[in-house]
Amino acid sequence: MERIVFNTILARKDENIMDAVMKWDFENKAREIIDILNEKKFDARYAKDSNEAKKMVEELIPEGSKIAVGGSVTLNETGILSDVIRSPKYNFIDRYNAGSYENMIELYRQGLTSDVFVSSVNAVTRQGQLVCIDCTGNRVSSLIFGPKKVIVVVGVNKIVDTLEDGIKRCRRVAPLNARRIPHEGTPCFEDGVCKEEICRMKARVCNAIGIVDGCCYNPGRITVIVVPEELGY
Ligand code: SF4
Repeated sequence: MERIVFNTILARKDENIMDAVMKWDFENKAREIIDILNEKKFDARYAKDSNEAKKMVEELIPEGSKIAVGGSVTLNETGILSDVIRSPKYNFIDRYNAGSYENMIELYRQGLTSDVFVSSVNAVTRQGQLVCIDCTGNRVSSLIFGPKKVIVVVGVNKIVDTLEDGIKRCRRVAPLNARRIPHEGTPCFEDGVCKEEICRMKARVCNAIGIVDGCCYNPGRITVIVVPEELGY
């Protein structure tokens, strides 16, 4: 009996140690990518967890701002969408209550001239690039030009080495969007495997891949809040 208890304690201790090692690794990855992004003139910042990221987003958005968002699991998971973006102190261009496809497109168009665009991306490369894949392109275009200010929130699970890895990651996770939205009838919908070569229907979720390769023309326009957690996809 004593031996079983002792082994259980040891196993729990091992788990705690592994958790601590992983946390440390995540923190190192976050700080490393922040330095790389700042060197490319993004305004990259460290948030110790999702809660801190949420507070930082709120502090960055002036009251009364016209806000738009990119479709993002990260914004949902962190509570940024429900607790910050939907706050009555902002003027949220609410794409989630568009009512019709035509109105949704109109709201996307309005988002291009928002004061602040808040989003995540699908990958951040160690070459200092933000990479994302879109159905309509509203997120890709808003990241690149339009909104006066952009805030991107990312977990360390999205950090990859190269641009090629970033694009691969976009394509690997895209079937999850086909499921989430949902876009039934896409070739990846049932088995989660992209079959781009036969995907030509209107429901295709991958029509635009965007790369932001730096913020030198307007330093700090894009704030990237990096969280040492696994967030979204
Ligand atoms: S290209 Fe088509 S099959 Fe591939 S992930 Fe996108 S929607 Fe799915």
